[in-house]
Amino acid sequence: MTSAPTPIRAMNERLQMVAGGGPTVIDGKALAARITASLTTDVEKFIAESGVTPGLAVVLVGADPASQIYVRKKVALTEQVGMKSFEHRLPADTAQADLLALVDRLNTDPAVHGILVQLPLPPQINAKKVLDAINPAKDVDGFHPVNVGRLSNGTGGLIPCTPLGCMKLLDTVIDDYRGLKAVVIGKSNIVGKPVALLLLERECTVTVTHILTRNLPDIVRDADIIVVAAGSPRLVRGDWVKPGAVVIDVGITRVVDAQGRRSVVGDAAFDEMGHVGAITPVPGGVGPMTIASLLTNTFQAASQALAAQPHESGTGGAEPEDEALIVIPQVDSTTL
Ligand code: NAD
Repeated sequence: MTSAPTPIRAMNERLQMVAGGGPTVIDGKALAARITASLTTDVEKFIAESGVTPGLAVVLVGADPASQIYVRKKVALTEQVGMKSFEHRLPADTAQADLLALVDRLNTDPAVHGILVQLPLPPQINAKKVLDAINPAKDVDGFHPVNVGRLSNGTGGLIPCTPLGCMKLLDTVIDDYRGLKAVVIGKSNIVGKPVALLLLERECTVTVTHILTRNLPDIVRDADIIVVAAGSPRLVRGDWVKPGAVVIDVGITRVVDAQGRRSVVGDAAFDEMGHVGAITPVPGGVGPMTIASLLTNTFQAASQALAAQPHESGTGGAEPEDEALIVIPQVDSTTL
């Protein structure tokens, strides 16, 4: 009797087959479109059954051009899937106390299920203080210490959007993560650390690396899965990656070539990756999945808020355990 293949062998066999004809290019744009289409149906059903329209409040302080583009995209997609969008644009010289007062109002507004404060914030505002003030049940960015703690414990909560998007992209090419070797390049609180925790939760053996890691190419060469979020163009070279491995490229760097042409490049040397099993392109890979995950998180927050509401015919009120209603005291977090 032959023994069942290990998850690693099963994955490698599958990916080497794919590698024979070049890598699978994981199309984040198409996946994000499928997710938003299915969310549109879910939102419609949710509204019909509950009478409640999920709502996302987006707060933009100042006029940073990149932030304005991101906010415009987020608002447009929120409305496209049938959710309500509440836009709050504040001047660049807004005082921290005024921003905190707005967050406070949004925390208790029943029409708002998700709150997103667009980063970066102007220098007079302490971003950590503002993010810590968001009700964890409405923290659709997943940055509040309570949600970070839940992710670390593997006990649910709202997961940061980019790491969640990375996992959905990986899910399109990997069925069984158990025992796979994953290397994460970058240890930021918004990408590297949460993605490492998610991979660990799937029972990968995870190595987290950063700018001071020694022998990075050798560490990466051993990996079945590489998630790179360094912001360093073409950091991961073709000869760092073993045949059949999966590369998720989170990096986004805007560059201008000698002819003055502008483009966006990732952290992996895409043109050297003909031997890998699968890879995400930049642009069109992780980026669109980040916004799709924001919408998914808002819908999750709305569903949980509804589930936590007192039932008319019930025992007369919400139980103290109702997550979405608990006001959790602010706690310190590490910086973003
Ligand atoms: P960050 O600057 O907070 O962290 C970068 C991390 O990479 C650090 O831990 C640093 O030690 C490590 N690093 C930098 N250079 C390295 C090198 N040469 N070798 C090894 N490690 C190195 O950045 P971040 O916020 O995590 O973002 C990382 C990249 O991902 C950026 O390009 C950013 O624009 C992009 N990003 C994309 C999305 C998206 O939606 N696609 C979302 C967030 C961030």
